[in-house]
Amino acid sequence: MWDDLRPVGRHEATGGYRRSAWTGTDRTLREWFAGEAAARGMDLTVDRNGNQWAWWGDPDRSERGGRAVVTGSHLDSVPDGGAFDGPLGVVSAFAAVDRLRADGHEPARPVAVVSFADEEGARFGVPCVGSRLLTGVLDPDRARGLRDADGATMADAMRSAGHDPAHLGRDDDTLARIGSYVELHVEQGRALVDQPAAVGVGHGIWPHGRWRLDLRGEANHAGTTRLADRDDPTLRLASAVLAARTAAEQVGAVATVGKVEVAPNSTNAVPSLVRAWLDVRAADEASVRAVVAAVGAAAAADPAEESWSPEVVFDESLRDAVAALLGGAPVLPTAAGHDAGILAAAGVPTAMLFVRNPTGVSHSPAEHAEREDCLAGVDALAAVLADLTGDRQR
Ligand SMILES: [Zn+2]
Repeated sequence: MWDDLRPVGRHEATGGYRRSAWTGTDRTLREWFAGEAAARGMDLTVDRNGNQWAWWGDPDRSERGGRAVVTGSHLDSVPDGGAFDGPLGVVSAFAAVDRLRADGHEPARPVAVVSFADEEGARFGVPCVGSRLLTGVLDPDRARGLRDADGATMADAMRSAGHDPAHLGRDDDTLARIGSYVELHVEQGRALVDQPAAVGVGHGIWPHGRWRLDLRGEANHAGTTRLADRDDPTLRLASAVLAARTAAEQVGAVATVGKVEVAPNSTNAVPSLVRAWLDVRAADEASVRAVVAAVGAAAAADPAEESWSPEVVFDESLRDAVAALLGGAPVLPTAAGHDAGILAAAGVPTAMLFVRNPTGVSHSPAEHAEREDCLAGVDALAAVLADLTGDRQR
C-alpha cells in the first residue's frame, strides 16, 4: 500500500505531499481507496459529504452485536505535509482487516474502513469538513460557498471532482451505522519517544480554533511616501504576531500565524491589505479566548472566527479498555484536531491510537514513523477491532 501511495501528490523539490481536497491528486487517492476496498471484497460506499467507506459485513444489517466498528482516518494533506498524517490510519485499518481475516476472525458486527474528506482544510480553510458535515456542525451552505486561494468554491471543486454538492449536510443514515470509531494516527509530538511503548492511547483533544485578521491600510510608493504619512498594515501584523507569542506563553497555550496574504504584495509598495490567519490551542477555552483577544487588541482588529473545535475528552470506558487491552499503553493528550474529535463531540464512542514519531515533527516532510512501530500499530488496532467486534464463533 505504501508503494502505491508514495508518489501520489509528492512534490519533487520539497519532498512533501500536496494532497488538497477535491483536486486531481485527491481523486487519485480516492481511486486508490476504492481499489483497496475492491481487492478485499469490501463494498464501497460514498456518503453525501464525500467520505469513503469500505465495508466488511453488511452496513445495514445489525448482526448479533449491532452497529459497525469503524476505523480509518484521512488521505488529504497540508501543503508539503508528511507521508503519515492521515494515510497511516487508513493503511493500518486495511492492514488490520487483513490481519483479522488471516487469523480467522469472524466479526459479529460490521467493520468499516473510512477515509474522511478534507480533514486538513488546507484548501478551503475549515478543517474536518467531511466529519463536520456528516455530524451537522458545519452548515452545508457555508461549506458550498467556501473559496480556495484561486476563488473556486467548494461546490465547484466537488462538482469538477465528480461529487454532487447538492446533498451535503447532516447524514443520519450514515451516523446510524457507526457504533464506535477508532482512529490510528501518527503521533504529532514527542511524548512516546522516551517511552518503552510504540503505541499510545488518546485522552482528549485541546479546544482550538482559527481566526482571520483583515488589516487594512493605504497602498503607496515605498520611496516617496514619508513614514509619517503611511498607513502600513504590516506594522499591525507584526504587533499581532508578537502579541500571539507573548499571550500564549502567559497562559500555556500555543499560537501560530502560519498564513499571510499581502496586497498588492509588491516589494516597492506600502501594502493596502494584510490578511493573516491565527491558530490557537490550549488546555481550556478561556486560555484560547484570552490569546485571541490579546491578538485582536494588538492588531486593532476584530479577529473573525473561521472555525471552532470545543474540548474533546474521548469515551472514558472505551479509552480505558483500549489502554488495558494494549497492556497499559500510555494515555496522551493532543493539541491536534482529528475527525475522531468531531465524532466524539457528536456522541459517538471514540478512541485514538498514536504511533510513535521519532522526530516529533508533523505537517512537514520530516514527519516519520519506523516500520517496526507502524507494525506495532497494526497489531494494536487489530486487537482493538477484534475485541470491539466480538467473534461469531465464540
Ligand atoms: Zn491527520
